[in-house]
Amino acid sequence: MLSREDLIRSFPILEREINGKKLVYFDNGATTLTPVEVTDAIKGFYDYHNANVHRGAHLLSNEATDMYESSRKAVAKFINAKTSEVIFTRGTTESINLFAYSIGKSGWLKDKEVLITTIEHHSNFVPWQQLAYTFDFTVQYYNPENGIFNLDEFLRNVNENTKLISITGLSNVTGQVIPIEEIIKFAHEKEILVHVDGAQLVPHFGIDVKKLDVDFLSFSGHKILGPMGIGIFYGKKKLLKKLPPFHYGGEMINWVSIENTDFAELPEKFQAGTPNVGGAVGLKAAIDYINKIGIDNIIEHDKRLTEYANKRFKELDFVTVYGPEDKTSIITFNVDNIHPHDVAQILSDKFGIAVRSGHLCAQPLLKQLGTKSVCRASFYFYNTEEEVDRLIEGLKYIREWLR
Ligand code: PLP
Repeated sequence: MLSREDLIRSFPILEREINGKKLVYFDNGATTLTPVEVTDAIKGFYDYHNANVHRGAHLLSNEATDMYESSRKAVAKFINAKTSEVIFTRGTTESINLFAYSIGKSGWLKDKEVLITTIEHHSNFVPWQQLAYTFDFTVQYYNPENGIFNLDEFLRNVNENTKLISITGLSNVTGQVIPIEEIIKFAHEKEILVHVDGAQLVPHFGIDVKKLDVDFLSFSGHKILGPMGIGIFYGKKKLLKKLPPFHYGGEMINWVSIENTDFAELPEKFQAGTPNVGGAVGLKAAIDYINKIGIDNIIEHDKRLTEYANKRFKELDFVTVYGPEDKTSIITFNVDNIHPHDVAQILSDKFGIAVRSGHLCAQPLLKQLGTKSVCRASFYFYNTEEEVDRLIEGLKYIREWLR
C-alpha cells in the first residue's frame, strides 16, 4: 500500500480542510476520489490529442482512436474479457438500461420472468420494473428479511419461467457481498442468464468474468477512481451478438441506405455517437492506478478497516447499524432519534467528515429495514483507522449535543 505522502501526492483533496478540520472522505460508495494521475491523463488528452475517434485520417484522430481503444484493452485485461466484449457507456445506470432494453427487445424474456431482489440500487430495479410493461415480461422480487440476502431463500424464487437473474455483487446499503459465483453455477444448470451489477463489487474486489462465468456485467468508472460519465457494460460475445442495439446513429453502423441499416460488429454496435474519449482515457489511468496498488492489497485493506469500524460502531449503543455482521467497506447506520441529514451535516461542519445520507437509491430496501433515510460511511484504500476514530468521536458528540 502507498505511503501517506504518496497518497497525498495522488489525492491532494485529502489535504483539504473543512472548517479547519482535515477532510475525512467516507462517501466512496457514491463516488471515489480521483487521483491526479487520472486528471493529468484527461488533461493530456484534451491538451494534445483532442479529436473525434474512428472517423479521421489525420494524425490527431488516429492518436485519439489509439488512446480510446487502448483504454478498452486495459478494461478487458482488468476484467479478463475480450476487447469486443467491452462496451463503453456513461456508467452502471446506462449499462443496465442498455442491457434491459436490448434483451427485452430481443424477445428472450417474452412472457417469462426476470428475478431481481429488493436490495438492488434503483439502477438495477427501475429499468426491469418499467421495461417489463414494454417487452411483456414479469419481474420476480426476492425481498429478504432485514435486507440480508440468503442464498437458499433466493434460489427458491427460481422457477421454470425464470430466464434472467440480475443482481448486485455487493449491496450499496448493507455492504453484504452476494454469493454470485454460486448463483451463476445454479442458474447456468437451468439455462438462466446472469447479469451482475458490479458498481460496488468491482472497486473492492475486481472481477474475472471468465473465471466467474458471468454472462453480463455493469460497472462505473467513477467508483474505481475514474472520471464521472464513463462506465462499462460487459457481455459474453456469443450473447452480445444476439442482442439488438440500444441506441441508433453514427458509429454503430456498417452501412446505411434508405431501405435498411446494417449494424457494425461488436463492440461498436452498442456505441452510437461520439464517445466520451477523455473519460475512457481517464478510466485507463484509473485502472493503471488500481493495478499499481494491487487489488489484493485493496481487498485486504478494506476488510481490515471494515472490521475495525464494525468493532468501533459496537461501542455506540445509540446507533443502529443495518445489514449482516459480515460486510465490506460500507457501514449504514442511524443515530437514535436524530435525522440522518442532521447527522451528516454536523459530521461535515464540525468534523470535516463526508458521509452520505438519504435513501441511497434503494427505497425498497429501506422500506424493508423500516426506515426512510440512513447515513452511510463507505471506505476505500486511502481511508484509515484514525479517520474511523474521528467518525466515532463525531457520533458521540452529536449524541451528547442533540440528546
Ligand atoms: N448499482 C449500485 C450497486 C450502485 O451503488 C450504484 C451507485 O451508487 C449504481 C448501481 C449506479 O451507478 P451510476 O450512478 O454510476 O450509474
